[in-house]
Amino acid sequence: MSSIDIMQRELAVFSYGQKQDLLTLLTVLDQHGWSTDDFKVFMAELKPMSATQGKFGDKDFEKIKQYSDRMQQWVDDGKKCPVCSSVMWIHEVNTGPGNQVGEGLRSQLLCSNKDCLYAEYKEKDPDEILKEYGIGD
Ligand SMILES: [Zn+2]
Repeated sequence: MSSIDIMQRELAVFSYGQKQDLLTLLTVLDQHGWSTDDFKVFMAELKPMSATQGKFGDKDFEKIKQYSDRMQQWVDDGKKCPVCSSVMWIHEVNTGPGNQVGEGLRSQLLCSNKDCLYAEYKEKDPDEILKEYGIGD
């Protein structure tokens, strides 16, 4: 049995459309040098997606596509690092014992460049920051 046949069998649960969507997503990740592990971390940061574990259904893929579009929008139009001009990622803060940063703060903007890691803290939550940049629902 060829590896194509094996993949075909093991991925049979996903529709052709789902595989296409995944391919799009992987291509976008690849273009920006993100690994699938980066993406898993990103997804875990997004509250509405945190319930999604294990197998993906059509609805999940719709959401992933939505988030992928938003991620692409953020990369294009979102906050850039004032030090090195890399895109800055939004992280929620003060939501648990591991991310306490000071009273009144709700978001951290962290430079995606691992050699820079410039950070800013905001009183707005991540959704409000996205809206500020014209991204969101
Ligand atoms: Zn930077």
